[in-house]
Amino acid sequence: MFLTRRHIFSAVRKATTTTMTHLNPCQKALFHDCPVNELQPLRLLLLGSPGSGKGTQSNRLQKNFGVAHLSSGDLLRRNINQKTTAGLRASDYMAKGQLVPDELMLSLIDDELTLMGNPNWLLDGFPRTILQAKALDSRLQKLTQPLNLVINLEVPEDVILERIMDRWVHIPSGRVYNLSYNPPRVPNTDDVTGEPLSKRPDDNPEVFRVRMQQYKDMCAPILDHYSSIAVTLRGNTSDEIYPQIEREIVNRLGLLPGVLSVPSTTSMAAAAVSRHKREQQQRQTTLGEKQHHQRKRQEKRSPLNAATMSDNHTESAAAGGP
Ligand code: ATP
Ligand code: MG
Repeated sequence: MFLTRRHIFSAVRKATTTTMTHLNPCQKALFHDCPVNELQPLRLLLLGSPGSGKGTQSNRLQKNFGVAHLSSGDLLRRNINQKTTAGLRASDYMAKGQLVPDELMLSLIDDELTLMGNPNWLLDGFPRTILQAKALDSRLQKLTQPLNLVINLEVPEDVILERIMDRWVHIPSGRVYNLSYNPPRVPNTDDVTGEPLSKRPDDNPEVFRVRMQQYKDMCAPILDHYSSIAVTLRGNTSDEIYPQIEREIVNRLGLLPGVLSVPSTTSMAAAAVSRHKREQQQRQTTLGEKQHHQRKRQEKRSPLNAATMSDNHTESAAAGGP
């Protein structure tokens, strides 16, 4: 039988325990074209040592699940690049591989969460301390959007150090390239914007050691804090780990990969504005409908009054009234 995207979508949706591994490559290709599941948004925290591939996996999840990606490291680097007050304060800590102060990190992230215009999102690199985790939990509680999955990536240390030495980034977008297995199409140039790539100042063996130790110290308490929704996935390459991530999302949340336009942090703000406009339009429509029904009721009682009311309504609308 020829399987349409809709068939696959509804079959897998019914059986939440079904995994991507049950589909043949052709079905998987169709599967990736399914509309995203709107019933159960993805609210994921991605943890992992420096260079474990959080950025790479985030890009894939953005593409396949339409999630918004909020990376604390990228956010800080953008602030440094734009020479904001927060960026100037953060740069010394980052250059040494130390955590930036909680209060600084929290205020930056809080602004981003407020602008989040996509119900499906993933956090990369935040929270990193218990204080940050508790602050995040209470913020998300208020938004009635608690985290529903925490994934910790574990990659052997020797593999990671090699990766970091070969890593180049496009700072404005956070896109990551690796000279050995994911080089840019044109050397030193971002594939999408054509802008130059940079080497992160903290991607050197000395600072890497500090960052690695810092990750080891924070990992256990954070995983413990989220123990009911946390899972650790292991592998040597991002290609090995990605299918495991997808399986966890499908199995634990019943979510399906699908294609959705990917809002960047800036377009998240635009999304929030358009949501506000839509809500306003809905309110106006409801008001218009109410006035329409009121007129109808009036017409039944007295056709003359109804005509006067209708004229008044037209005038007030023309004057930009409610
Ligand atoms: P990767 O190399 O995979 O990007 P990483 O964890 O070393 O992983 P980033 O997440 O980009 O790198 O973070 C870079 C630096 O930014 C950290 O070393 C730290 O100084 C700062 N930083 C990032 N997130 C936080 C946070 N949640 N709290 C405090 N400092 C942070
Ligand atoms: Mg990163």
